[in-house]
Amino acid sequence: MGQLLRATAQKGKVLLHHIGRGIYPPLCLSCSGETDSAGLCAKCWTETQFITGHKCDCCGTPLLGDPDDVPCDNCIRYPPVWSQGRAVAVYSGGARRISLALKHGDRLDMGPTLARWMVTAGADVMDGIDIVAPVPLHWTRMLKRRYNQAAELSKHIAKVGEITHVPDLLTRFKRTSMQMDMTRDERFENQREALKMTNRFTELIQGKRILMVDDVMTTGATLSACAQACISGGAAHVNVLVFARVARGL
Ligand SMILES: [Zn+2]
Ligand SMILES: [Zn+2]
Repeated sequence: MGQLLRATAQKGKVLLHHIGRGIYPPLCLSCSGETDSAGLCAKCWTETQFITGHKCDCCGTPLLGDPDDVPCDNCIRYPPVWSQGRAVAVYSGGARRISLALKHGDRLDMGPTLARWMVTAGADVMDGIDIVAPVPLHWTRMLKRRYNQAAELSKHIAKVGEITHVPDLLTRFKRTSMQMDMTRDERFENQREALKMTNRFTELIQGKRILMVDDVMTTGATLSACAQACISGGAAHVNVLVFARVARGL
């Protein structure tokens, strides 16, 4: 009897899967239009600038014509606190639409696919990592948005990479004001004052190699504050992995 029930339940699951596929064809992650396969429609593929060529080893920004593994001008001028960084795509076109949909459009279904892309783009910066953690949201933003998009990505990345995930490794204890009109130094100070290591993880983090995950890197101020909090707290080093990188001048 037990066996019959199990067999029936299994058949039901398979049937539901097929029905689901029939009713809901995969949607493009960027424009939410229908697509033949999971991922992007043909139009959005052409509008997404994946970072596959030369890039800055520190911040992942694409470099035109420069040899690989060199820091970009910005990273030479302001060396990041973290060691290495990677991004899947440039924050424009299709990647910008994906980032906005993940952040404001409740498209949590994107998480596993984006995480797979991030693991591919960030394979070398994930090597030897002990802990994966997201850039934290302030609790008031969390209440409003109901989820932290960075934590949605880090959760799936940790799963694919079989690495320990600590979603609350860092705490954002102060809401930061909008950074649009701030100078570079003001942005960095603004973030540094708002983030800290969560007390109960002080012991766990000693000598560990951390991968800090975010959806978008703009100036790197937020990721710098996160990396600094980890290193001040006793981490050995920090690498960063984001979905999209704002690359100025391209
Ligand atoms: Zn599309
Ligand atoms: Zn750089």
